[in-house]
Amino acid sequence: MQIFQGIAVSPGFFVGEAFILDNEGSHIPRHFVRARATDDELKRLEASFQAVAEQIQQNQKDISAELGPEYGAIFAAHLQMLRDPKLNVELREILLERNLTAESAVKRIFGKYAVAFEQHKNRYFKERAHDVRDLERQLLNDLSGANRYDLANLKSPVIVLAHTLSPSETVRMDRGNVRGFATEIGGQSDHTAIVAEALEIPAVVGIGRLLANIASGDKILIDGDRGLVIHEPDLATLTRYDRESSFRDAQQQRLLQLRSEVAKTRDGTRINVMANIEFPDEAESCRERGADGIGLYRTEFLYLGTDRDPTEEDHFQAYIKVASALDPRPVVIRTLDLGADKMGRIARHAEHERNPFLGVRSIRLSLRNLSLFRTQLRAALRASALGNLRIMFPMISTLDELRQARLVLHEVMEDLDDQGIPFNRELKVGMMVEVPSAVVMLDRFIDEVEFISIGTNDLIQYALAVDRSNPEVSELYRASDPSVLRLIDQAINVASSRNVPANVCGQMCGNPLFTMLLIGMGLRSMSVRPGSLLQIKEVCRSVTLEQCVAVKENAMRMDSAREVERYLRMELRRAIPSIKAGDEYMD
Ligand code: PEP
Ligand code: MG
Repeated sequence: MQIFQGIAVSPGFFVGEAFILDNEGSHIPRHFVRARATDDELKRLEASFQAVAEQIQQNQKDISAELGPEYGAIFAAHLQMLRDPKLNVELREILLERNLTAESAVKRIFGKYAVAFEQHKNRYFKERAHDVRDLERQLLNDLSGANRYDLANLKSPVIVLAHTLSPSETVRMDRGNVRGFATEIGGQSDHTAIVAEALEIPAVVGIGRLLANIASGDKILIDGDRGLVIHEPDLATLTRYDRESSFRDAQQQRLLQLRSEVAKTRDGTRINVMANIEFPDEAESCRERGADGIGLYRTEFLYLGTDRDPTEEDHFQAYIKVASALDPRPVVIRTLDLGADKMGRIARHAEHERNPFLGVRSIRLSLRNLSLFRTQLRAALRASALGNLRIMFPMISTLDELRQARLVLHEVMEDLDDQGIPFNRELKVGMMVEVPSAVVMLDRFIDEVEFISIGTNDLIQYALAVDRSNPEVSELYRASDPSVLRLIDQAINVASSRNVPANVCGQMCGNPLFTMLLIGMGLRSMSVRPGSLLQIKEVCRSVTLEQCVAVKENAMRMDSAREVERYLRMELRRAIPSIKAGDEYMD
């Protein structure tokens, strides 16, 4: 049994077969074949060695001609490695003895050499690991025909393990058969993680080296609560998780009883608990869980996972589907928040930005692509005639941006008027508060919007200068950081002093750890992932306002994120003894 620790991004667990996508996204097939098929595998392996050697020779010739023979020599080293008799014998032996596929044999032997080189003290040998990995990749590409495996066409339930998955790939996953996924890179609130939450499948990201140690078909346990991937779990581990599963089922049954209850503190303060969605299909389950509305509809997901840009009609149909599922409760349509992090076609140019999170993202992108922006606004306005819709602009960082966005909206309204197309003239317009400048200037912004929604996912990254998708700095990415808490508190205060409704829609809001603290700050509206709706309702219904205010006052006096978290965990347990918060599930 081997345990890999990563970042937990979507809760739940599952035990099943690994399905490996390598760095290039090719699928490495199951590693065992029938004994009589090994001859065929050997032939495939030899053919592949031959093809890769020819390709390398060709590269060597081309580069030598272009840049001189000293550059061509790099390829000579690759050829030498490929022809190494010891390596060839090892590959044949492992393939024949263990009935492996050619791909598995390559992966195992090259993986072994690469790790040995990587661990070598001498820098020269260490660097040779890249050559080994490069050769491995070329052989695997040749063997698999370099086809990216389409996650939409799986035949049985699997746990996908990949170096990375883009939000578009995640969106295309066959939801019935992908029962969890884990990636070597990625961070806590990047958009692939958000899609996993929307699909309600366990997910772990930022594990570091994983693929070299696991083959497709191996037994894997994924634990999306603790961020663990367990390779070939032993019996004791499986039994522990079985017990945990029964506990979860019982907890779920208890929570289901809250579906038609509202979130109200024990002393009668009503809290709106709404949901965040990415796909119109999610709306129905939000209604069933008794959501008070959709506080954040991430409409950019209409752009991901398809080959063409959505038309006005596509937008319109999606919006009325969500609005009618939730009717008469409100649905907040957030205008496109595309950028390099979400990788829509529209944002392709942004992939080359050095700091995509600080680049042409979100409202900046909409304001530079006015026809795209207008198409979306037209659809949202048309849908507003049929359902309770609101519009919200993301990533507003200056007043000018907000005014420009409102101006475009106004122009689109005039066009609709000219054409006699109905829309809701009283439609509420809000902004996301997710850039520190918006918090600092909120007293100015607040008179120009009808509501705000605090996006803590981005607010944390911009306040702490921590890339939300970079596992190297994930330790620093903390909603509980005292500076972040002050920013949230300040924004809620400004909004309530002017009677403008404030909501929080960042992921922290779906974590029961923060519910008391946010209520204590004066928050009366939260928007959470659908899977958290019932749990957040339960916390609201178990506490008093007085208790929440005391929690807030104590937490705001603390100096560090760790201290705050420890304290909040203790308070949550005290308020709801049956809840198991954070790492303590397995006590
Ligand atoms: C946020 O930043 O908190 C937010 C809700 O928006 P997104 O996660 O889509 O950037
Ligand atoms: Mg955001």
